[in-house]
Amino acid sequence: SHKKCENAAGQNIQVYVRVRPLNGDERNARSSSVVSCPGAREVSVQEKPFSHLTKTFNFDKVFAEDSRQTDVSKVVVHPLIKQVLRGYNCTVFAYGQTGTGKTYTMEGLKDFEGSWADDPDAGIIPRSLVEIFEARDKGGFDKDCFQIKVSFLELYNEEIFDLLCKGMDLDRKYKIFEDSAKKGSVIVHGLEERVVQTKEQVLRILEEGSLKRTTAATKMNASSSRSHTIFTITVTITEKSIVGQEKFIEGKLNLVDLAGSENIGRSGAVDKRAREAGKINESLLTLGRVINSRTKTSIIATISPASINVEETLSTLDYAHRAK
Ligand code: ADP
Ligand code: MG
Repeated sequence: SHKKCENAAGQNIQVYVRVRPLNGDERNARSSSVVSCPGAREVSVQEKPFSHLTKTFNFDKVFAEDSRQTDVSKVVVHPLIKQVLRGYNCTVFAYGQTGTGKTYTMEGLKDFEGSWADDPDAGIIPRSLVEIFEARDKGGFDKDCFQIKVSFLELYNEEIFDLLCKGMDLDRKYKIFEDSAKKGSVIVHGLEERVVQTKEQVLRILEEGSLKRTTAATKMNASSSRSHTIFTITVTITEKSIVGQEKFIEGKLNLVDLAGSENIGRSGAVDKRAREAGKINESLLTLGRVINSRTKTSIIATISPASINVEETLSTLDYAHRAK
């Protein structure tokens, strides 16, 4: 009975939900959990305090508060990486209220020590790269025939900031071009791309990017909860036939950490906030152009379990459910 829905390109959009554990602030506010996960694909929210009225939503999979980073990667990203290695472009969006675990899910915690790939707190980005490295090594590919490049950009008020460019050049302008070689794909001209070969390089890039994101936000007097980030992994595989002909396969994995859902087009927002919300919607349009339109798309909606966040939680679940 599971209903499959398709996007414009005729492909499935997978929609997942992840509930984070109740945090210290919520406990201190004596806020209780109003979210439960009665089934692997179900999430229920108690709409009002002291009421038995609950609203239940169905998704492709619901990750309960005790779910691990590795569970999320296995379900969400593992099938996409297979597609990327066959030359497709795939996108994962993290969508949800600020503080509900978008960045934790995408990047994870970055104070990894030692074997960070096995770190329980490592998120989708490092885990994806590790899986791609493993595919390269298992496939016996030559390093020259299997290239992995990453870029990391931030989108704020329709402007693009390169989180990997050297220095702190916030005035640098980036242009978006349609890729003539690949229909529907878009290139951000002038964006820094880094070739990565090892886990350690990925770790450094994530640290560098996050530091830059924070510095840029402070410089612009802006909150990073109002910007989107896109981490793109491009895999290029060169295959040589026996007669020496070369064939290129290029696939991309876009990992998008969206602005806080409370900032995205909420009706009833007042003046300054409404304007800012409007700007964010414009930047959502730009975001749509930066990401290949012919893509396999997955959305992870992140929510808090606490009663104090119930309104935003219901609005996130409504929105995510409509994406199906
Ligand atoms: P967002 O990016 O949506 O604003 P964060 O990812 O920064 O939220 O998460 C807010 C805080 O909650 C962080 O300290 C983060 O480590 C923690 N957190 C989020 N999700 C989880 C989770 N599933 N398990 C444990 N801690 C989490
Ligand atoms: Mg975040």
